[in-house]
Amino acid sequence: MIDLTGKTGVVFGVANKRSIAWGIAQSLAAAGMRLAFTYQGERLRENVAELAATLPGSLLFPCDVTSEAEIAAVFAGLERELGALALLVHSIGYAERADLEGSFTATSRAGFLTAHEISAYSLVGLARAAAPLLEKSGPGSVIAMTYYGSEKVAPNYNVMGVAKASLEASVRYLAADLGPRGIRVNAISAGPVNTLAARGIKGFTGMLQHAAEKAPLRRNVTLKEIGDTAAFLASPLASGITGEVIYVDCGYHIMAV
Ligand code: NAD
Repeated sequence: MIDLTGKTGVVFGVANKRSIAWGIAQSLAAAGMRLAFTYQGERLRENVAELAATLPGSLLFPCDVTSEAEIAAVFAGLERELGALALLVHSIGYAERADLEGSFTATSRAGFLTAHEISAYSLVGLARAAAPLLEKSGPGSVIAMTYYGSEKVAPNYNVMGVAKASLEASVRYLAADLGPRGIRVNAISAGPVNTLAARGIKGFTGMLQHAAEKAPLRRNVTLKEIGDTAAFLASPLASGITGEVIYVDCGYHIMAV
């Protein structure tokens, strides 16, 4: 029902087939969107290349978001190959493992800065670089991935929760800045999903179980449900939605106890 044929998007954050970014890519591709992918460093290149190869016409670029030069190279490549861009997907997060357990008070200056640079600032940098191409596609949008730990305290999520609060505020400020150019910026707040990044959080399996027991739908969210929400947000059906955080968590966040 959602038709993204003839549109193009770039997806940051595929590490493997369990990645939320890959779930999003599959829904976008099923709706007809042509995709470009980035991978973080040589270690992940083969994995991402194999997955990308299953989607005809897809493109691949290296990009570590701590490198301004790599970000610039990706968007130069996208301009050359695609000309315009309908969608930027930011599905990137990182904090030092030591900062994802124990006391938040113990977070080091370096750990705090790293988590914020990679998980929040990168959205600002990528949106700035993408804006001219998103404007050209008439008009494009941006989607970022977040988690409820930005609003309420989740044990061990610690500095990542603070970085997600920064990411969600960045979504609102970017939406206000880029709105007059026709560009929408939204976030999806997903319930817990068993991914590489999630397994770095101490006690993650317990979070997964707790969410499934407490959520109104009594289960965890699927990659397809997150991906389909991204396809909706990227489509003209969502043309009036910007600056929003949309929960795709089987209703978990509405529960008080
Ligand atoms: P994942 O490990 O599959 O993806 C995380 C991605 O971030 C990886 O592809 C990794 O390469 C990338 N990344 C990390 N540092 C980077 C850097 N310096 N440059 C470029 N890329 C970098 O895990 P995921 O769970 O799919 O995470 C995707 C997003 O979804 C993250 O923002 C995460 O916080 C968010 N999220 C995850 C959950 C969950 O339970 N898994 C829930 C809500 C939100």
